[in-house]
Amino acid sequence: MIRFACLGSGSRGNGLVVEVGDGRHTTRVLVDCGFNCRETVARLARLGLRPADLCGLLVTHEHSDHLGGVFRFAARYGIRVFLTHGTLSCVEAAIQQLAAVEVIDSHLPFKIDGLGARPFPVPHDAREPVQFVFSDGARRLGLLTDTGHATTHVERMLSGVDALILECNHDLRMLESGRYPIWLRRRIASPYGHLDNEAAARLLAVLDRSKLQHLVAAHLSHQNNSAELARSALARAAGCEAEWIGIADQDAGFAWREIR
Ligand SMILES: [Zn+2]
Ligand SMILES: [Zn+2]
Repeated sequence: MIRFACLGSGSRGNGLVVEVGDGRHTTRVLVDCGFNCRETVARLARLGLRPADLCGLLVTHEHSDHLGGVFRFAARYGIRVFLTHGTLSCVEAAIQQLAAVEVIDSHLPFKIDGLGARPFPVPHDAREPVQFVFSDGARRLGLLTDTGHATTHVERMLSGVDALILECNHDLRMLESGRYPIWLRRRIASPYGHLDNEAAARLLAVLDRSKLQHLVAAHLSHQNNSAELARSALARAAGCEAEWIGIADQDAGFAWREIR
C-alpha cells in the first residue's frame, strides 16, 4: 500500500510525505523540505505525524523552496538525507550538522526499507536536479515538478504510474502579461525553468494513464496561475472531470491519498 500527502507546494516551500506499508511495517519519507523547523513540524502534525515518524529526507535539488529547511530539520531529528552529488556540492558547508548524508545516483533506483525510490534527471536550472518514482513493489507514484520541459526519459519514467503529482507552474498568457520582470519571465518559461499548464497537459496526453488513480497538479504559481486553469488543461488531456484532479496548495498541501 502507498499513501502520500503534501505539506505544501509552490515557490514558497515544498514537502511531500510518501509512505509504504505491508500492514506490519511502515516506511515513511519526506521529499524536500522548504519550510523552517517549526512550520514543518506543524504541517506534519496536520497529517497526524511527528518528525520521528520519518526515516529519510529525499532532496530533489538545491533551490531554497525545496532545500531551505532540510539541514536544520534533519540535524535536529537525526534523519538521513538522500541527495545527488550535484545537489550536495551546492551545500557542502552545511552538511557537517547532519546525522547522515547518502549520495544517490540520479539514474539508479534505491531502497529505504520497504520503499523503492527511482530518481530520474530533469531539465531545470539546478546542478543535478532529479524527480522520483516511488514504489512498494506493486504500485507506483510519480513526482514531477521543477522541470523546464518533458524529455523522452521523463515520459518513460512516468508512463503507467498509479498516481501522479505533476507540475502546472504557470499559464503562459498570465506569465507573459504579468508583473514579473522580463529576466524572471524568461527564466520560468525557458527549457530549464518550469512546466506550464499546456506543457504538463501535453506530457499527460502521451503517458499511459490506464492505471492512474490520482492526479494532482502541483507547484502552481501564485501570481501566474489558478487552480481552475491548471485543472482544465489537465482534464482536457486526460479526458476526465476537472474536479477529479487534485491541487497541491501552497498553504494547505493536500490530505492523505491512498493508492489501492
Ligand atoms: Zn520549486
Ligand atoms: Zn527549482
